[in-house]
Amino acid sequence: LTSERYRVRRLPFSRLSPQDVAFFQRLLPGRALTEPAALEPCNVDWLRSVRGKGPPFRTQGNVSRCPHRQPGPWAGAKHSKGRPAVKNVWFKIIKVSASGRSAAISHIPCHFVLSDFRDMPPAPLAFVAGSSTLLLKPQTTAEVSQVLRYCSERNLAVNPQGGNTGLVGGSVPVFDEIILSTVLMNRIISFDTVSGILVCQAGCILERLNEYLEQQGFIMPLDLGAKGSCHIGGNVATNAGGLRLLRYGSLRGTVLGLEVVLADGTVLDCLASLRKDNTGYDLKQLFIGSEGTLGVITAVSILCPQKPKAVNLAFLGCQNFSQVLETFTTCRAMLGEILSAYEFMDEKCMELVEKHLKLSCPVRDSHFYVLIETSGSNSTHDEEKLNSFLEQAMTSGLVTDGTVATDDKKIKMLWSLRERITEALTHDGCVYKYDISLPVGKLYDLVTDMRARLGQSAKNVVGYGHLGDGNLHLNITAESYSHSLLDAIEPFVYEWTARYNGSISAEHGLGFKKKQFIQYSKPSEAIFLMQRFKAMLDPKGILNPYKTLPSSS
Ligand code: FAD
Repeated sequence: LTSERYRVRRLPFSRLSPQDVAFFQRLLPGRALTEPAALEPCNVDWLRSVRGKGPPFRTQGNVSRCPHRQPGPWAGAKHSKGRPAVKNVWFKIIKVSASGRSAAISHIPCHFVLSDFRDMPPAPLAFVAGSSTLLLKPQTTAEVSQVLRYCSERNLAVNPQGGNTGLVGGSVPVFDEIILSTVLMNRIISFDTVSGILVCQAGCILERLNEYLEQQGFIMPLDLGAKGSCHIGGNVATNAGGLRLLRYGSLRGTVLGLEVVLADGTVLDCLASLRKDNTGYDLKQLFIGSEGTLGVITAVSILCPQKPKAVNLAFLGCQNFSQVLETFTTCRAMLGEILSAYEFMDEKCMELVEKHLKLSCPVRDSHFYVLIETSGSNSTHDEEKLNSFLEQAMTSGLVTDGTVATDDKKIKMLWSLRERITEALTHDGCVYKYDISLPVGKLYDLVTDMRARLGQSAKNVVGYGHLGDGNLHLNITAESYSHSLLDAIEPFVYEWTARYNGSISAEHGLGFKKKQFIQYSKPSEAIFLMQRFKAMLDPKGILNPYKTLPSSS
């Protein structure tokens, strides 16, 4: 099986045998699952943009006219699992047994299938559209170690999975990799209220951790729109940035230690809870952002800040991007240490959250909106600072309208306008997602150039992101997936980014979708060294194959 654009071919890993399944069922009683219903949500990514391919599921029937469901505009419709169904086609998933008999097991709407669609012959169809047939849910590090030792000996490929909210197709299998989920590894191991150091298993959900810490007067140093589903292990594996990076820095600074199981089952216990430790190389850094390709993170030690006593939010409208930039420099100078977030979105984003999520914008129509958060320990002091900044911004004409929130309800409402853009986009059609780092002054030029380049062939071209971190989320939507639109976007978007010394992945990682573009941001010597690290830590290449690194020749 190959894919033209992605040029993926199944590597010669062993096929899962009944003996393998029996081994895992003995090792993890009731937690080694083969039922299609359990596997289905783990085989498709959050965006419903990537679905692996591999036996034994086959999709049959005319894609655009499945006999049991009518094609149609599904945007806004709810999938049975509560996810938005944004695809205009339905797939009938058929399980083909060894005797060749088949039975329909489910109908799924699919956004577009990167690894399958491009290879599809014209209807009538019989193409592969399923993937992993085994989902493992270990509870302990020892179990993960036994799983990987066995997989290494048997040469079975493994796909580590956390909350499956990743946006680059890294969290789902490409062929028939075993899914190793951390969903049951959700125990808090310790929390030190003096140092603020939390130690927990990798499968803890980010939002649950934050709630736990809030009760002790602390918060997690990161926050992101997927907090209700993503796992801390997944966050570390992707080096997630998010909404608090401006204030608390990246996970490369706040993660103090990791416990990782290597591909051969070796447990690497670097779960230090120390602020300072200069004994040799800092090995944990290798695993932060390694997207499941070097080891399975089983536990995390992380430094958590005090919960701020006073939080204020300002939501402002600007008429052009220069004003957005100038507002940033002004507020950084005037708010200083209490500035905790500076996010921006363009008017198209606002249109989409209003249209698809029925949220309403509290400020007058503007071309750009910025969200400024302050967090501090003295509300009077913080409010005074914020007010004098706002006065300056309004009187100098940088900002045309705005609103301020200090109570929790309004703060949440304003944050949702920014946090739910990703969700709103999925309702708008097929989404082409780009997560770019650029010198902040150039940030929005890419959106403008892309809009001019694509013209009517795109439905919407929108820009938003973590301006304070120089991070643009460029998103393009269209009614349906099209090769020609993708060809118009790529590699243009990467060449543009490389020209300004940007990064083609600011925080989402490379996963499956972007791995072949790494050379736009890294020199060949660095890629070669990464491949050597991979070969050293995972000589058989069983961990998350087909992801992050281009295959070495
Ligand atoms: P998954 O999606 O399950 O996996 C992601 C990758 O990590 C995969 O390659 C997987 O193999 C690997 N992995 C997962 N767990 C482990 C483990 N224990 N050991 C080794 N490898 C592992 N990202 C940002 O950086 N900033 C944002 O602001 C942001 N906002 C988002 C908003 C929304 C609405 C959504 C859907 C996503 C957003 N993301 C953001 C992307 C995503 O949420 C993050 O990448 C998140 O950190 C992934 O965590 P997860 O547990 O879902 O990991």
